[in-house]
Formats: sequence, C-alpha cells, structure tokens
Amino acid sequence: MFLKRLVVGVLETNCYLISCKITKKAAVIDPGGEDEVDLILDLLQKNNFDLKYVINTHGHIDHIAGNNLLKAKTEALLLIHSLDADMLVDANKNFSSSMGKEICSPPADKLLEEGDEISLGRLYLTVIHTPGHTPGGISLVLNNIVFTGDTLFSGGIGRTDLPGGSYQDLIKSIKGKLLLLSDDKIIYPGHGPDSTIGEERRTNPYIKN
Ligand SMILES: [Zn+2]
Ligand SMILES: [Zn+2]
Repeated sequence: MFLKRLVVGVLETNCYLISCKITKKAAVIDPGGEDEVDLILDLLQKNNFDLKYVINTHGHIDHIAGNNLLKAKTEALLLIHSLDADMLVDANKNFSSSMGKEICSPPADKLLEEGDEISLGRLYLTVIHTPGHTPGGISLVLNNIVFTGDTLFSGGIGRTDLPGGSYQDLIKSIKGKLLLLSDDKIIYPGHGPDSTIGEERRTNPYIKN
C-alpha cells in the first residue's frame, strides 16, 4: 500500500493519498486546500495512479476545499456521509463564508453510510459513522489504520461547539466505536500527528476515565 500525508490549507489539515500498489487505484481523503491540488495531481501522475475516489471525512471547508479542482481534473467519484452531503454545496454550512471566501464543492456522487465498503483495487476501506464533530462525520478503517477525521486526534478530540456538533455524540462515537478497535490500530487524524488506538485509550484526557 502507498500512503502519503500532505498538510493542506490554512488550518493545516491532513490530506491523505492512498493507493493499491498492485492495481494503482488511488483515493484522496480530505483534500482541504485549493493550493495543494497541483501537488496531489503531480503525485498521481508521477506514480501512475488512477484516482477513483475523493473521500471527505466530513463537510467542513478545511476538508473539502480541493474537491472542485480534483473533480474537474480527474474522473474521481466524490464520497461523503449522507448527513454531511448538504455541507458540500452550501458555503454557510461548510463555514467557508465565515472564513472569508465562499467555496462550494460539487455534489457527492455517492453517499456513504455506516458499514459501507469502498474498494480500491485490493484495498478495502470500511466506513464507521462517527458523528459529533458534525452529524455525518466518518472514520475509515484500512488494514491496520484508521483515518479519524476531526473525531479523534492525538491527545485530543474534535470540537463540538459548531452548529451540528454534539459533545455527547462525539464521546459516544469514540468510546462506542473507535475504542472497539484494537490497540495497535494506527490513527491518522484530520489534524496533527498520528497515534494509535492504544495510546489514546491510555492517555487521551478527554476519553480515559
Ligand atoms: Zn471539521
Ligand atoms: Zn478540520
């Protein structure tokens, strides 16, 4: 498996490019910056990758701002959970308007739900619905990795004070779903450094008790 993290946009969002090494089928998770799309396109071309999917862990602008350009320049399908789909096409709901520049994304090509499997050549991503930061926030499990979006960070959790957020739901998503994963699962979050489920279970002040 190929995996590369790019830090994109003013909010320093982690964007991940993943690909099946055998079939070259690739996906981009959270292309949150317009300026870095060229870099992603370069990586796709250089590695001869075929971009099948752009996947948004949720609908905030810092995770979707590059959707437009990627959709325009590739054949990729855009995937997001059904409950965040309206954020793609509404600059108020995705908060770009409150950050000074109204940005919308094309609408989703396919809506995701809990338990969906996204196949990428010989790789399989499993969707876990982890609401709380937003209603349609998702995490994605891939082999020994879980992409947690803005649900769970190294030493922290996503904010829940924005419209659509719920602290109760977020804790339920983390304790009731993510912490069911094994301790050795590597966490690749939406911001900041990576971690593991075990490390967060032991040391994350927001979830240990
Ligand atoms: Zn967010
Ligand atoms: Zn974010």
